[in-house]
Amino acid sequence: MTRQLQRFTPAEVEALGRERNFLRDQSEWRCPACGEVAIRSYLRTARHASGPSVMSYTWCAACRRTAGSTGPLPPGLTISDPWRALDPQAWEEFDKNLSKFFDRLDRLWESGALPQSFDWKGR
Ligand SMILES: [Zn+2]
Repeated sequence: MTRQLQRFTPAEVEALGRERNFLRDQSEWRCPACGEVAIRSYLRTARHASGPSVMSYTWCAACRRTAGSTGPLPPGLTISDPWRALDPQAWEEFDKNLSKFFDRLDRLWESGALPQSFDWKGR
């Protein structure tokens, strides 16, 4: 059964951003909302008119809160995207249904395809 998605509050997003650097540490993190160590993230690159960008999706596997953001791709950062390579069609489709999208990300995480690996030469 699909659980209802909720957004993190701005204060929770801020707490996560302060404590956690997903590019450096891809382990699951403590959720500021429910307290479970179940925060996961998925990053994907996109090409916008302004240049290469990165979209980040962060969610809690326990309480199903989510947060998303888009920003410029840090110079020198290469992101592996196991899902896109494995299943390009589902990748496009699930993008339109956030609830399925996060279910799918959880399955990828549990199967070991996520978290991704990063190659960041700008560090
Ligand atoms: Zn939670």
